[in-house]
Amino acid sequence: MRGLNDIIGETIDALEELKRSGVTHVGVSRKTLEELGKAPVVVGVPSSLHEYSRPATDGVVAELAAIEARAKVCVKCGELSRCRHSVVFGVGSPRAEIMFVGEAPGHDEDMQGEPFVGRAGELLTKIIVAMGFRREDVYIANVLKCRPPQNRTPLPDEITNCLPYLLSQIELIQPKIIVALGATAVRSLLDVQLGITKMRGHWYTFRDIPIMPTFHPAYLLRNPPAKKEVWDDMKAVLQKLGRELPKSR
Ligand code: URA
Repeated sequence: MRGLNDIIGETIDALEELKRSGVTHVGVSRKTLEELGKAPVVVGVPSSLHEYSRPATDGVVAELAAIEARAKVCVKCGELSRCRHSVVFGVGSPRAEIMFVGEAPGHDEDMQGEPFVGRAGELLTKIIVAMGFRREDVYIANVLKCRPPQNRTPLPDEITNCLPYLLSQIELIQPKIIVALGATAVRSLLDVQLGITKMRGHWYTFRDIPIMPTFHPAYLLRNPPAKKEVWDDMKAVLQKLGRELPKSR
């Protein structure tokens, strides 16, 4: 049976198809706009939410789905919304203890609609597994939900436009720890102007949530010796969670 989620999904698909075909404006009645302003009641689990490590309340799942639905039709950044193939909202457990935050989707993520699925993503998944989790036990998101052309660094305006989606994800999921992957994630969440090399390995706080800055997996691909530092940071994360440290990597 088709549920409200299916109808929202089909509407979003139809709007994205129109946009791809060059349509830039769609007439919408005042009544529809008023309805869109209200949080939709979403029944069921959206595609980006897999298994749960702890039971999630229906409210959290529904609110995440509602925010994801809005992000999917977001056109706040003209260039990014015109160039994107998909909006890469986030993936994982809505009750995750750890949230990993990266910079922005790359080509593979844009094509698949899921964060960290390219080479850097494979490395991130290895780190998560080495920590004793499955990818679906944690939550993975980016500061930007759309891919910047040629993977350029996000512009300050783009971060300002997109950050509210990430803040809502953090607010709803309430992770016990945030791992900020690389300088963009760190600078977007913390008002600290130190470089990532100085910040990594030290605890900071974001809205009462401990945050561990560490190197971005893409940097590790270019500088494999830095994996040792990231592993030290992940051990500190496990220690803070009261989890046993894996015997070996
Ligand atoms: N780099 C990021 O910061 N995020 C992704 O999702 C992939 C690569």
